[in-house]
Amino acid sequence: MDLFEYQGKQYFARFGIAVSPGDVADTVEEAVSVAERVGYPVVVKAQVKVGGRGKAGGVKLAHDLEEVRLHAGNILGLDIKGHVVRRLWIERSSDIAQEYYASFTLDRPNKTHLGMLSAQGGVEIEVVAEENPDAIAFLSIDPVRGLDLATARRWVHEAQLDEVAREQAAELLVKLYDCYTTGDCDLAEINPLILTPDGTVHALDAKVTLDENASFRHPEWEEFRATETEDPREKMAKEKGLNYIGLDGTVGIIANGAGLAMSTLDVVNQVGGSAANFLDIGGGANADVMAAALEVINADPKVTAIFVNIFGGITRVDEVARGVLEALSRVDIAAPIVVRLDGTNAVEGREILAPHLSDRLITEPTMLDAARRAVSLANA
Ligand code: GDP
Ligand code: MN
Repeated sequence: MDLFEYQGKQYFARFGIAVSPGDVADTVEEAVSVAERVGYPVVVKAQVKVGGRGKAGGVKLAHDLEEVRLHAGNILGLDIKGHVVRRLWIERSSDIAQEYYASFTLDRPNKTHLGMLSAQGGVEIEVVAEENPDAIAFLSIDPVRGLDLATARRWVHEAQLDEVAREQAAELLVKLYDCYTTGDCDLAEINPLILTPDGTVHALDAKVTLDENASFRHPEWEEFRATETEDPREKMAKEKGLNYIGLDGTVGIIANGAGLAMSTLDVVNQVGGSAANFLDIGGGANADVMAAALEVINADPKVTAIFVNIFGGITRVDEVARGVLEALSRVDIAAPIVVRLDGTNAVEGREILAPHLSDRLITEPTMLDAARRAVSLANA
């Protein structure tokens, strides 16, 4: 789960990481009252879960009440890369001497945590990595040993942060690592981490992704979940207990097994189509599950063809075929369905479907044939 900047900053604050004083506002009047409280000048910041807000006009400095009104009015409702701004974060403006970058994330291939630190913050780290890769100091952290202050001190030195900033930055990085690990983040990023002219270091931005697998030990994450704008299709799928992820394409996908479902997306893509979703109906794949899967896909107005891709292992294909028929008797499906059945009892399965085939229910012998057929129907 991604957090808004203000939530990320609230999370940081719990771990003792310094952030600017501020508050959220959902209207121009609220923005004004927050600004009056924290004191001018303030920064008016769009709260959307996407980067590059500054460049898009979503971060503005305001020196007085009139400027807060103006900027808050302009930013509320602004569309930033497809995300409409509904909430603002108003904080006391900081003077900036230097902008740094700091983050922790998981390095899966190395089975370690990865810290990234740079004296060249404020711009996207991808740009720094591209144009000036030596400006990023990477730190590989053994998750069992963790990050101690001595290592953090060597790290800020290596990254060539300004002398005056180093001790505070090292301490802040240890706290950020604590937030990242005990706070169960997949990503904890500060860009920019700033040094002020009077020599203090604090976080000016926050990008936090929480690891949902750890939500059982974080009841306090409920408040973050409450502000999540969930895809209505994913919401429906979750209620039905399905493993569904919504995508933007036109071919609805049903497959048994996550690996097969992912391969199905690849094959659909390979033959020129685009998947509307990922959906793994798992091992059981009985009529109830199949009906639920078809209902969720059917509720997606973009879907113009459905590809059911089943490879029977422990799952018997004849049972899946019965499931498809029973599901079709219960749900009125708008798009044509292309079925590929293979594996255990595939012959029996195809025989069960045979009398019911039409231009709305089609079988194809292979995954590739079925993908081609589904894509051509979807694009027709
Ligand atoms: P992003 O563009 O979505 O990453 O939003 P940021 O929160 O990082 O803000 C973008 C830029 O606005 C920063 O890199 C800063 O240069 C600038 N900025 C943000 N807050 C302040 C502030 O308090 N004072 C000043 N002077 N600049 C700020
Ligand atoms: Mn930023």
